[in-house]
Amino acid sequence: MSKTCEQVPFTQLAEQYGTPLYVYSQSALTDAYRAYETAFSGCKPLICYAVKANGNLSVLKHFAALGSGFDTVSGGEIARALAAGADASKIIYSGVGKRIQEIAYALDVGIKCFNVESLPELDRINEVAGMMGLTAPISLRINPDVDAKTHPYISTGLKANKFGIAMADAERAYQYASSLKNLKIIGIDCHIGSQLTELSPLVEACERMLALVDKLAAQGIKLEHIDLGGGVGIVYKNEQTPDLAQYAAEVEKMLASRSLGLVLEPGRSLVGNAGTLLTRVEFVKRSEEKNFVVVDAAMNDLMRPALYQAYHHIENAEETTQPEILADVVGPICETGDFIGKERMIAAKTGDVLLVRSAGAYASSMASNYNARGRAAEVMVNGAKHKLVRRRENIDDLMALERDYL
Ligand SMILES: *Cc1c(COP(=O)(O)O)cnc(C)c1O
Repeated sequence: MSKTCEQVPFTQLAEQYGTPLYVYSQSALTDAYRAYETAFSGCKPLICYAVKANGNLSVLKHFAALGSGFDTVSGGEIARALAAGADASKIIYSGVGKRIQEIAYALDVGIKCFNVESLPELDRINEVAGMMGLTAPISLRINPDVDAKTHPYISTGLKANKFGIAMADAERAYQYASSLKNLKIIGIDCHIGSQLTELSPLVEACERMLALVDKLAAQGIKLEHIDLGGGVGIVYKNEQTPDLAQYAAEVEKMLASRSLGLVLEPGRSLVGNAGTLLTRVEFVKRSEEKNFVVVDAAMNDLMRPALYQAYHHIENAEETTQPEILADVVGPICETGDFIGKERMIAAKTGDVLLVRSAGAYASSMASNYNARGRAAEVMVNGAKHKLVRRRENIDDLMALERDYL
């Protein structure tokens, strides 16, 4: 018996679409979005799904239909969100290195807000807006200097990180922004990191930001919204994750005395556990020292283990009575860092389909063509129905942009 995604057996999907294959549950996407809506219903937030977690057009289209806005970090992501039916007035544009063309494009389509990360970026946006005869709505990303207690590569709210404007410089930055003629200050934002497993850093960041909001108001700078950045962590293994209702209650309490809109930018927690990466076993390689289960997915399909030593649960797609062995689950790429999981107890023989869980976020969106591997196909499951939402890349796709220029 195969395990299922909604009502569809994983082995049937592997058979029909081939492997490696990303499979998404549409109802899991809906449930995750509704969980934020419900928890924060007292604050009526604008939920802006962070496109970088998974930018598949069908995923974006589904969130747009649920009423979601979008947090983007490039002109390309803005274009993707719009192509999927996003309302431009619900798009936020974050990131430390916005280029002139990207800023002009965002102004042209009429996004809600630029989350600005430095003084030179303020100058650049002001200049571009001036040239276009427009006013740019802006928020300043302030670095609240709290420790998110997550992996250093996804921790972003410390003084030493490249992101945002230091709290100590924040008032001066707002004063400076208010002196620039083509900018309209509308908000404040922060994003302290991803995969947060504790609530206290999120609450502390919000407190620090609100203290600044009050100081700015006293100086005549009144903001329309506060944007608290990314969402809570998800369960990959056995993590305790922050309770959304508790997070919402804390935020609601803090916002009660202020007339400030709330913006949230969850990515991972909206898509992470809605996705599974299907992979087929090529060989089981046994040696005295170690066993390896060699599969057809690799670090180019799922970079998180190689990049952050991330854990993804791996299991056989069938309810099986095969004996388990202790093995590393590895891909075919020529790198020692190419592993999906290390030292796992797993039942696997050649031809079996394995499920790599929690692969909806930062998996397909981080995929590459390393080793001339086409990116895997993506399938959306809805009840008993399933649809290909991105076809597998073939070798012609991979070579299409190159010519013999010699
Ligand atoms: C990555 C990112 C997010 C999303 O973070 P998650 O942990 O996936 O919820 C939100 N905002 C910004 C600015 C980001 O860079």
